[in-house]
Amino acid sequence: MSGTFVGLPSFPQAAAVSTQDTQLRANLRHATRTIRDKRATAIGELSDWPQLRAAGAAIKDHTLAHLDHYLRQLEAAVTAAGGTVHWAADADQANRIIADLIHATGETQVVKVKSMATQETGLNEALQAEGITAYETDLAELIVQLGDDRPSHILVPAIHRNRHQIRDIFTDQMAAWGRPAPEDLTDDPAALAEAARLHLREKFLTTKVAISGANFMVAETGTLVVLESEGNGRMCLTLPDTLISLVGIEKTIPTWQDLEVFLQTLPRSSTAERMNPYTTMWTGTTSHDGPQNFHLVLLDNGRTDTLADTTGREALRCIRCSACLNVCPVYERAGGHAYGTPYPGPIGAILTPQLQGTSTPLTASLPYASTLCGACYDVCPVAINIPQILVHLREQTAQGGTTTSRGTPATATPASGHAAMRAAMRAATWTLTHPRTLHQAQSLATKTRRLHPKNPPGPAAAWTNTRDLPPLPAHTFNHWWKHHHSTEGTPQP
Ligand code: SF4
Repeated sequence: MSGTFVGLPSFPQAAAVSTQDTQLRANLRHATRTIRDKRATAIGELSDWPQLRAAGAAIKDHTLAHLDHYLRQLEAAVTAAGGTVHWAADADQANRIIADLIHATGETQVVKVKSMATQETGLNEALQAEGITAYETDLAELIVQLGDDRPSHILVPAIHRNRHQIRDIFTDQMAAWGRPAPEDLTDDPAALAEAARLHLREKFLTTKVAISGANFMVAETGTLVVLESEGNGRMCLTLPDTLISLVGIEKTIPTWQDLEVFLQTLPRSSTAERMNPYTTMWTGTTSHDGPQNFHLVLLDNGRTDTLADTTGREALRCIRCSACLNVCPVYERAGGHAYGTPYPGPIGAILTPQLQGTSTPLTASLPYASTLCGACYDVCPVAINIPQILVHLREQTAQGGTTTSRGTPATATPASGHAAMRAAMRAATWTLTHPRTLHQAQSLATKTRRLHPKNPPGPAAAWTNTRDLPPLPAHTFNHWWKHHHSTEGTPQP
């Protein structure tokens, strides 16, 4: 199984390939437009949506501002309820902790409910290297796993596949992972769902360890909350003997009452449902009911560094609803794989460079994977100003500056490829602050305009490769102004 995101090409290279895939674009266009239309209807039913949105943002901001306090409170509550809390500074540490916990049970197979955090750490691949097989139980994740593929959407990881492709994947691959697909399997959605149900039921009933993420962690009680639509999560969270939850520290909220806001905004923003089909909550362990061993692995992996950035930290409000993906014109055409990380779309373009830094070609390119149209900000249920953070990160990749790395101040070096842009900006700054030189340059440019190439050579070609160079006028504005002012006394239009 593939799945590692490391070493993928930068966004422009990956998008240049994916945008040529007409089947992919058709699948994405159909799926994202359907979801976003339904979402708009569901949101329109609530007259207090702006207030809910503001409340969600305020709860998240308050929690992030006091995260140290709420995390300690959470740890104490989970421990008091019979769970065990582990702290993971990075992906490797998280994977090591989880592998050791599984080894301690003597098991070599685990079932998983869909979890972005485990994709972020590359857990499946890490477990595979330890001789442990992780079975995805979310339908879309199952399709991705059987297809030796990567997720391309936060909510619908197999959004890039249509039902004919899914039938072929089931027919060809299910037998290698357990119960085979029925011989007469069609591409009827009900038949596909039944094949997946039968295949997964065997896993649920025989596997003794489960791995989950969580949408929220309530600090005051130590309760974890998972929202899902298929019931596979409920199976994972109740049937096995041991439950291991890997959760990013930013998923903490202070109280049960805070859940009230997110249980309204998350389902409507993600699946356009008024209420989530399956909402499972668990607090530590209970004798004779549910998993008897519960481990919570709290993941940092760049989150406290992100928190140190007063502009970029808004990204940590994200509740992973995926609404921003479904309205993004770039995502709709390029697809999720082009973003090269588990977090695609507008949220991925701001979250990944902050969690991982902007030192690789891929992460340095992500802040540019946007038109800055602002649609993502409009739909975000926690009002993350994604365009503002994109511009902030573009500035950082182009000019470098102060940042935080593993808790200590660091200096970000400008990403390669921006030297020509910086030189051009310095020249423009100097010219614009010297009016006489500006005037001379403008006069020279208009006089020689017929000699200007349509596609300038060198680094400037990168600009005109995708844009038309506007034709220069015959006269400068200064010339026009003097001429009209001196001949007629007042400026003419
Ligand atoms: S950034 Fe906002 S819209 Fe996008 S996934 Fe996160 S919460 Fe949803």
